[in-house]
Amino acid sequence: MTGDGTRVVHAGVPSAVPGRSFLPGPAFGAPYHLDPVLGPQPGVDGYGRTDNPTWRALESAIGELEGGECVTFASGMAAVSAVLLSVLRPGDTVVVPGDGYYKTRAFASSHLAERGVTVLEVPTAGPYPALETVRLLLIETPANPGLDVCDIADLAARVHAGGGLVAVDNTTATPLGQRPLDLGADISVASGTKALTGHSDILLGYACTRDPELAASLTGWRGATGAVAGPFEAWLAHRSIGTLDLRLARQSTNAAAVAALLAAHPAVTTVRWPGRPEDPAYAVASRQMRRIPGVVTFTLADKAAVDRFLEAASLVFAATSFGGLHTSADRRAQWGDDTPDGLIRFSCGIEDTDDLVADVRRALDAVIA
Ligand SMILES: *Cc1c(COP(=O)(O)O)cnc(C)c1O
Repeated sequence: MTGDGTRVVHAGVPSAVPGRSFLPGPAFGAPYHLDPVLGPQPGVDGYGRTDNPTWRALESAIGELEGGECVTFASGMAAVSAVLLSVLRPGDTVVVPGDGYYKTRAFASSHLAERGVTVLEVPTAGPYPALETVRLLLIETPANPGLDVCDIADLAARVHAGGGLVAVDNTTATPLGQRPLDLGADISVASGTKALTGHSDILLGYACTRDPELAASLTGWRGATGAVAGPFEAWLAHRSIGTLDLRLARQSTNAAAVAALLAAHPAVTTVRWPGRPEDPAYAVASRQMRRIPGVVTFTLADKAAVDRFLEAASLVFAATSFGGLHTSADRRAQWGDDTPDGLIRFSCGIEDTDDLVADVRRALDAVIA
């Protein structure tokens, strides 16, 4: 297979036509011109809630990288909720990660439970209950923020034995980190807000599948609910994907160096990064993933220690989200995520490794000074 750098640069980019730009700019249209006599025609764009050429280019790029048909959405939560609501019916059982993105869990326990769906929360690392009666298993691997991983192929085989479906939240890994559809998942769903686009300037989501019926029902859901990405966001996303390989490479290198520093520093209580051989997720991650993301999760003693850390660091932005160019740190408990007060989800940016490590060391030293 062609290398990742080559694939992301060319993904979804039209073939060369003299005088045209490499990536045609965003197409803005609410209604498009119709044939005044024939009216709406198949294959001709009619209205912006269902048709947009800029989405189609982005969808062909993401679809190539994930290895399936892609449907983009306005945000990661628009994509996750579209998967849940278009698949599940009253009386069904869904399993969601107990330690994954907290908004997914909250969505399931409120909106799905009140619609007669049985919602089970299971930690990413397991143990998993019997899965033969489950209609949909949604897993998040690596899980945000704890970074546990689970074996996609093994779980997919167990769910498929009972006729259910498996969706993987691929936000943290990105399609260069792992291809869930190759591993047996039915749907790869993600927030494109994070590392996929990586510039901390757009909200985006997508779901990919190889099942034409699922793809049609997701597309139908999007058109019905209107959870569409704006054309400008879609174009920015497509442009940003061209540097995904380079960004992930630097983020991963930075994460390895930061994780090693954290593991050896007396201010730090726990460190999770699936690329460390000492990490409980290392074995499955190294088997299943093509590269390890730039996110490292660690704990300091308490909130006061996190405050000192963030005040002392100069290259670390206090911000939620992750996967961007700029290193950022988020104390997850401040959002109501059920995590310890001192837990930081640390997202390595693409700064020079030496600069970042020196800054983090200074900030950690300040915590115990
Ligand atoms: C951020 C995130 C989402 C939601 O994405 P938005 O684009 O913020 O709506 C879903 N899943 C995971 C794992 C995330 O990190």
